[in-house]
Amino acid sequence: MKVAKTIDDIRRLVADARVGGAGLVGLVPTMGALHEGHFSLIDAAAGECDFVVVSIFVNPTQFAPNEDYRSYPRPVKNDLSGCESHGVGAVFAPSAGEMYPDGFAAAVSVSGLTETMEGNCRLGHFGGVCTVVAKLFNIVGPDVAYFGAKDYQQAAVIRKMVADLDMPLRIAVCPTVREADGLAMSSRNAYLDDDERTQSPVLYESLQLAERLIREGERNAASVIESVRSLLADNAPLGKADYVAIVDPDNLAAVEEIKGDVVVALAVKFPSARLIDNMRVDVPKANR
Ligand code: AMP
Repeated sequence: MKVAKTIDDIRRLVADARVGGAGLVGLVPTMGALHEGHFSLIDAAAGECDFVVVSIFVNPTQFAPNEDYRSYPRPVKNDLSGCESHGVGAVFAPSAGEMYPDGFAAAVSVSGLTETMEGNCRLGHFGGVCTVVAKLFNIVGPDVAYFGAKDYQQAAVIRKMVADLDMPLRIAVCPTVREADGLAMSSRNAYLDDDERTQSPVLYESLQLAERLIREGERNAASVIESVRSLLADNAPLGKADYVAIVDPDNLAAVEEIKGDVVVALAVKFPSARLIDNMRVDVPKANR
């Protein structure tokens, strides 16, 4: 496994791999502090592609000034050995200066899909995400890029960017990997103190409650949201719900009456970490 810190170096490594016969190149963009969720994307890439690139870059432009850019975990050695043991061909780990040299002035944005949920709570976040992901696609030139369903809105926004800008690659979205108690794995889980960690599985439990209510026939989204909010308030008193939303899986528009498949998404702010999770609930045609 090779490690590239510059754009020139990773381009050369990918070009060499292609000359060496790699037909399909896969890219897994990450901010590091890798866990089993990330490794599931890497394994999916390794299963489908001939050469896998993992980017590790804590992207400053997707953090708001009050967020955790400085304190975000950066366990570089662990990350590299994890990549090596999962069959990664090359890691691209640039500095902020390499990605954003003095005078950098471009931006990629996607409207509509970004104006709800995470986009409402984290102003500027998706502009930072789209710009860095577009750069990574241009730098690495992958055939397939892998994202997690854990960040449902992010995956939808990236898909839209790729479709609207005719970027020549496929986006693969992999299922959310969870701890045994249901908490979605996240690099930020390490911030939680013991009491917060004890309360945190309620995010998943509340998604399961929403799923059960919808499957049992509840069609009023507001009523499902109210039940979810009260479970969160009862079982995670240290957390505060930023939002609980029931949205159309494709355009992310808020749903009032549940007539088809929906995504239930939520964000809960604990004192030490803000957590997000979501679940797609398929409503069989016969039950619509
Ligand atoms: P991050 O390093 O948090 O920016 O995440 C990098 C990629 O890993 C994103 O596409 C995330 O959606 C994905 N990811 C993060 N956590 C999980 C998880 N628990 N299960 C599956 N994918 C994940």
